[in-house]
Amino acid sequence: MAIMITDDCINCGACEPECPNNAIYEGGVEWTISDGTTISAPYTIETGETIDPDEDQEPVSDEFYYIVPDKCTECVGFHEEPQCAAVCPVDCCVPDPEREESESILAARQKTLHA
Ligand code: SF4
Ligand code: SF4
Repeated sequence: MAIMITDDCINCGACEPECPNNAIYEGGVEWTISDGTTISAPYTIETGETIDPDEDQEPVSDEFYYIVPDKCTECVGFHEEPQCAAVCPVDCCVPDPEREESESILAARQKTLHA
């Protein structure tokens, strides 16, 4: 599964620098697929939309730190466990029940993001 941040988030910012995929953004801040990855060509995200790698995308949340599902690998390929969950002081980085993903899918995403 991708990890998600719940509305228990206290916006401390501790998780953001820990993500090896730059999948975590502050609420209200736009994201790009190229940020922290090697993606340099048009990229199709989970919605089916193909986006420009450097184009700013709408924040997932305006209130809380958020995780871009298309960039989260659950830290597969980098660490034994999700680093955001490991550092979060209020344990609000949790598996997203809407996005159950196998280890092989997460590993493939990691390879795609860091080709
Ligand atoms: S689980 Fe890992 S890859 Fe996913 S958002 Fe957290 S730190 Fe980033
Ligand atoms: S570490 Fe937890 S509380 Fe702090 S910004 Fe990240 S998700 Fe929110």
